[in-house]
Amino acid sequence: MAGKKFDYAPAPESRAVVDLQPAYGLFIGGEFVDPVDGRAFKTVSPATEEVLAEISEAGTRDVDRAVAAARRAYERVWSKLPARERGKYLFRIARILQERARELAVLESLDNGKPIRESRDVDIPLVAAWFFHYAGWADKLEYAGVSTASSGPPKPLGVAGQIIPWNFPLLMLAWKIAPALACGNTVVLKPAETTSLTALLFAEICQQADLPPGVVNIVTGAGETGRALVEHPGVDKIAFTGSTEVGKMIARSTAGTGKKVTLELGGKAANIVFDDAPVDQAVEGIVNGIFFNQGHVCCAGSRLLVQESAYDEVLTSLKRRLGTLRLGDPLDKNTDIGAINSPEQLGRIRELSDVGESEGAARWSPPCELPDKGFWFPPTIFTGVSQAHRIAREEIFGPVLSVLTFRTPAEAVEKANNTPYGLSAGVWTDKGSRILWMAGQLRAGVVWANTFNRFDPASPFGGYKESGFGREGGRHGLEAYLDV
Ligand code: NDP
Repeated sequence: MAGKKFDYAPAPESRAVVDLQPAYGLFIGGEFVDPVDGRAFKTVSPATEEVLAEISEAGTRDVDRAVAAARRAYERVWSKLPARERGKYLFRIARILQERARELAVLESLDNGKPIRESRDVDIPLVAAWFFHYAGWADKLEYAGVSTASSGPPKPLGVAGQIIPWNFPLLMLAWKIAPALACGNTVVLKPAETTSLTALLFAEICQQADLPPGVVNIVTGAGETGRALVEHPGVDKIAFTGSTEVGKMIARSTAGTGKKVTLELGGKAANIVFDDAPVDQAVEGIVNGIFFNQGHVCCAGSRLLVQESAYDEVLTSLKRRLGTLRLGDPLDKNTDIGAINSPEQLGRIRELSDVGESEGAARWSPPCELPDKGFWFPPTIFTGVSQAHRIAREEIFGPVLSVLTFRTPAEAVEKANNTPYGLSAGVWTDKGSRILWMAGQLRAGVVWANTFNRFDPASPFGGYKESGFGREGGRHGLEAYLDV
């Protein structure tokens, strides 16, 4: 059979498990309600451009209503419940998330464009794990190490305004809502304009779990809705994940207001491969680092730093591996690379890739047929990249890898840290002592050793410098929602 290539038969996941409604309201005070101004926008499948549903656009009066509902629920119910009762609700939500995992995974892939393999095996299991983890914390807050015997048990902040991006819609919701509720806060959450559907399904899950009305409120809309939430005087805490640009605006507009703020922003992580690393394993890690979720990952390993002596071997293996990646229908179980989330994001990836070429880097993609409809970008590698190139400095947020080289560990550290960001990094080497030394030198919130893009609810995540401040996950993540 030499030379004969077997093709894969299509293996689509069924959409029948999802009950899409033609239009969705806002989730305020435990019910779905129409927006005051009656405005709406459409959400499309990025893989086919099919209109999936109409989503309500919350205006300032709707944000007002949602904050008032959250305040009422905070004062009358949630802050008065014994902590273990709060925990029971969170455990119940976690179990329902597991029961409805398939429905959530299919809906996430439909609305976001990510491969079902990822939403099914990564996103949704982590979402449930996050709720289980924080459910367990609800009645153990005094042991979280954020309070002292004299300060008494830690207290919640009140109403949290939470704004999340489109790359991990339900997972970012879990990172925000689970710790907030465990600590006794109530929330108003704004999902991203292009990916509201799983947040609205989560609202249904809150109803199913009999969560007291107003504890979770979901206001859909665009940037203006987010701004209204950030600027609302009735909000005690803002938690934001998204671009550094909007993060800076939020920092400015909340300065001096007494609101507690945590920001999880962009990144330009270095994935550093030494010449003693196991090459096949490292190549898998490089692929996972930048092509997982189409590279729409704040901690993506978007800058590959390879030791010069291993460069040829690593690049040859990497190109061979990229040739086996399958791009296409996100609902097909064999798909590795799905659709780009929006035409705006596709435009940005194209623009920065063109800049890469015009600045002198060499562009390479494997032979790869792109579907006619929808928003697509092939897996792409740039070699001959210098530290001054824009593709080595700016977050592309797409399936585009910039390759640089180094000779010594000190040079690797210097290049890795030469960025305004500091969210994550990866180190691939056989030597344990080198891993520890590198981890101590890298200015990044998370350093992965011989792996990449690993997440665990018990482990804190967050950045240095322009990647933001505050930590999400684990015991550290509780501090963001407690008055300490
Ligand atoms: P944004 O930062 O604009 O979006 C993040 C969230 O903030 C969305 O819910 C958005 O709403 C909302 N938002 C937008 N403007 C405001 C505002 N003034 N006040 C409050 N909330 C606001 O990211 P984009 O989607 O525009 O993506 C742009 C770039 O940002 C990407 O190309 C990527 O490089 C980077 N990015 C990084 C992320 C990360 O996790 N590091 C995540 C997302 C983007 P809406 O989407 O509805 O407009």
